[in-house]
Amino acid sequence: MSSSAAYDFREQVRQATDIVDLVGSYLALRRQGRLYLATCPWHDDTRPSLQVNPDRQSWRCWVCQVGGDCFSFMMKHEGVEFFESLKILAERAGIELPTTGRRAEPGSPEDKRTLLQAMAWAEEQFHRCLLQADEAEPAPRYLQERSISPDSVQAFRLGYAPPSWQWLVERARTTPYSEQVLEAAGLASRSSTSGRLCDRFRGRVMFSIRDTQARTIAFGGRILPETADDRSAKYVNSPETRLFSKSDNLYALDVVRDGVSRERHAVVVEGYTDAIMAHQVGLRNVVAVLGTALGLRHIQLLKRFVDRVTLVLDGDEAGQRRTNEVLELFVSQQMDLRIVTLPEGLDPCDFLLQQGAAAFEGFVTRADDALEHRIRVATRGIDVLNDLHASNRALEEILTTLSKAPVPTGPAAAAARLRQQQILSRLSRQFRVDEHELGLRLTSLRSSSKPAAPMSARPAVIPPAAGGAPAGRSAVDAASAAVSGQMSQRQCVVELDRWERDLFEILLHDPSLAVVAVDCVQPEFLRSASAMQLLTVYRELVEQGRGTDYASVMLAVDDATLKGLLVEMDEASQAKRVEDPEAVLREIANAFYLRDEDQRLRKQQTLLEQGALNEAEQIALLNALLEQRRDRQGISAPTEG
Ligand code: ATP
Ligand code: MN
Repeated sequence: MSSSAAYDFREQVRQATDIVDLVGSYLALRRQGRLYLATCPWHDDTRPSLQVNPDRQSWRCWVCQVGGDCFSFMMKHEGVEFFESLKILAERAGIELPTTGRRAEPGSPEDKRTLLQAMAWAEEQFHRCLLQADEAEPAPRYLQERSISPDSVQAFRLGYAPPSWQWLVERARTTPYSEQVLEAAGLASRSSTSGRLCDRFRGRVMFSIRDTQARTIAFGGRILPETADDRSAKYVNSPETRLFSKSDNLYALDVVRDGVSRERHAVVVEGYTDAIMAHQVGLRNVVAVLGTALGLRHIQLLKRFVDRVTLVLDGDEAGQRRTNEVLELFVSQQMDLRIVTLPEGLDPCDFLLQQGAAAFEGFVTRADDALEHRIRVATRGIDVLNDLHASNRALEEILTTLSKAPVPTGPAAAAARLRQQQILSRLSRQFRVDEHELGLRLTSLRSSSKPAAPMSARPAVIPPAAGGAPAGRSAVDAASAAVSGQMSQRQCVVELDRWERDLFEILLHDPSLAVVAVDCVQPEFLRSASAMQLLTVYRELVEQGRGTDYASVMLAVDDATLKGLLVEMDEASQAKRVEDPEAVLREIANAFYLRDEDQRLRKQQTLLEQGALNEAEQIALLNALLEQRRDRQGISAPTEG
């Protein structure tokens, strides 16, 4: 937990956020008694198994075994770390982060909230115009010709901007949005000749670009064939603004994000209409880049939701060349990239209309691994066995791409090493070069290029506690680990054992006991990393003189897994009836103490049996064992589990 001011800030954000309102803005909620239920977006849920508890301001999916508070909901939903979730919720509640200094005046062009409101307002104008206005007449006809359905118009909130210079500017006069705000939002710009403020989008079908929180941040406007002259660009997009950067956003991600994160796979196409048509035919994982190549920041954005990306290329030369750069990015980000080229230069929209969703999915599933693709392109037309020069150059190119991958570390290291080995042995066969030599060359390329820093390094995530798994390790394991000097292994145990659970359940039941608990339970008595973390949080809260009730503890915890555990234990504690909580706590503390002592003695006993103790140590040990037996008349040390 961090400083006092940081804690207060969290509290402020927490208080301004209602969990029912928050979850309800993403999932459809149904009331059941004191709870609300929703279909869980993170597993294939057939009946609503995600519960929201307004009293505890908590949520929990019984099937996924995840849960927590508003912060961990955003962490899970947005695929971000704690601090990012705090930022998002603060912004949502209109609370300025303490470090960002002076808050921009509401209504001013510096104020992001004002710009967002202006964009939402503009979207509404364009959308209503398309649906209702006579002047929009050519637009619905055009959409119909392109087979874009009314449902898609609704789902993507398509719109129309009439072909006049000040349509939107005029309408803004009766709103709180000043000319400066319209300019800052990229909706209008000042003519350099007349100095008048003019609409940016004129006579165009409007595509709203939204961030992952579904806030409209930009527009793309497509010219209609009948109003186009040779000078007009097919698309006009919003400029880069405070709200929008095209390298940070993907079209339709807001609409398909749940599908994308469930499948851990996204398909990336090039055009707005491609993404819309994919959605229209029932595909729920297709997004589009915004008139720019797929770049590092797109990949980092996607990485929050998926492990695999399939890039659909229109199949021209330029596209193929760009693939090499994109591939290097994917390799360096350790993401799986596949590449599809559609037949006969069709774009996905046409292809989907002509051949349907199943044919498209067929192409996607059969997509080449990008590295294979790379090897194929590099060796195309080369006689690898006879043209040594060309073949060496191709090999060097491929190894250079491979060398962009970070040296595998952490939990995924074994898999990454295996994959690298497979690639090297493949190259070795194909080029008839010794595999070991390839490995050496790769290492040297790695050290000569700058180390590829892991771009969005995330701390290793503690896997969520699996339901019903046996708790902790056996005492024998613990003792033998202790004997072989691997005490630190204790820290690796994630799951709480029964005594640890009892400890926190009693503290949740009676928060005033926290003072006693931090006094008489030593952190070394605990076995799981989660329990130690949680006890540390209690200790800090006590030291800072703060509350130690459920809400305060929850607020002080960053880790999503811990938050989930807290919800679970809180529910268990509410179901319990306890006569004398303090007595129970003392009993638990005593049990921890005895268990710890047991372990120490057992360790020494083993040393004794191994003949590793000198005479004085032997006598001390025997005395201690005798004393233990005397102390525990009638009391047995806790057994495990
Ligand atoms: P359509 O199928 O109606 O021609 P599209 O969306 O498929 O539309 P493409 O010509 O395939 O359009 O272009 C792909 C994407 O590139 C567009 O969706 C748009 O984001 C971007 N784009 C195309 N032309 C321009 C342009 N002149 N200025 C800015 N962006 C453009
Ligand atoms: Mn197209």
